[in-house]
Amino acid sequence: MTVAEEFGRRAARADALAAEGGAAVPLLRFAGELLRAQGRVASALAAGGPPPLSGSIAADLPRLLPLQRAFLELLRRSSAPEVAEEAGRLLEGGDEEGRRRLLASWSAEASGASDFLSRAFLRPCLETLRAAGHRPDRPPSDTGCPFCGGPPGVGFLRVEAETHGAGRHLVCSFCGGERALERIRCPGCGETDPAKLPVFRSERHPGVRLEACEACRRYVKAIDLGVDARPLPEVDDLLSVALDLWAQEEGWERLEPGIAGV
Ligand SMILES: [Zn+2]
Ligand SMILES: [Zn+2]
Repeated sequence: MTVAEEFGRRAARADALAAEGGAAVPLLRFAGELLRAQGRVASALAAGGPPPLSGSIAADLPRLLPLQRAFLELLRRSSAPEVAEEAGRLLEGGDEEGRRRLLASWSAEASGASDFLSRAFLRPCLETLRAAGHRPDRPPSDTGCPFCGGPPGVGFLRVEAETHGAGRHLVCSFCGGERALERIRCPGCGETDPAKLPVFRSERHPGVRLEACEACRRYVKAIDLGVDARPLPEVDDLLSVALDLWAQEEGWERLEPGIAGV
């Protein structure tokens, strides 16, 4: 599957979940728009002609800036008013503002230091680099993604044939790369004391758990693919935003927002 097709698959999942109705519909609709816009970026990067992205942000910027503009033009018509407004503001800032924001997001370790739209634009670029095996020149991270250094946006549990147990996995919010994680370890700070790593569940969302850490007071949401094998973790995450709100009221911080910025 090409990178653009991967985005198409996620957009189709968001549309299908939105069609089922419920409180998450506006968020799923927005995710569908965003994933399609990201898919357009991936298609443009794959189109014949120019050389592939190198992974060096300085070298790739001339290629990225017109794509960023096209991406923002699409999101300017987004159903989420605050996103549409922000896209308009970024476009008014021109290439200079676009360049500044892309560089800031590229070198930021976590989302707190960067902005949603620049990060959302960089996602298909980093996913394209990952598919090509061109390592991005982002700052390395001890606890982040081994390919790009990015923090995990969401996790999932999948039954492993070899061990017959449910293996923990993380999805990188920057490049979409998946990696396995030890059963007892906080992906944020590396804590390994089981007494400090509580797991929270809710009856309303049986296929979801929050894997928390008392050492750094952060958590990752994991989708249990053993309960239902159809979900795409990054999209299905949006169905249980109520759990994030609960956790945040209890004083926990999500390690990294999901694809819709929540
Ligand atoms: Zn990554
Ligand atoms: Zn921790």
